[in-house]
Amino acid sequence: MNSIARGIGVALLYVIAAPTYVVIALINVIRSAPAARAIRTGIVVCPHCRAENDLDVKATCPRCCRTDYGNRLRCRCGNEASSFDCDHCGTTIDL
Ligand SMILES: [Zn+2]
Ligand SMILES: [Zn+2]
Repeated sequence: MNSIARGIGVALLYVIAAPTYVVIALINVIRSAPAARAIRTGIVVCPHCRAENDLDVKATCPRCCRTDYGNRLRCRCGNEASSFDCDHCGTTIDL
């Protein structure tokens, strides 16, 4: 009897926890959406001056200091940037 009650308790915990996992998964999707959109379109609009920043430009990697043409958010050394400076106003844009 006692183990049945414990089993029901554990099952109940899973039922309560399930929506929490769904919410966490949704938050992760929403958070990654701007970065995913930026990589798809190749353009990031500055939230301050509204200038369109191309991602496919000549940029220097902050880790290996390699300067090359290509996606400014990714480098051959494996470095992935989560922000960069706006070409127009210089404000750091977080992705
Ligand atoms: Zn690099
Ligand atoms: Zn700007």
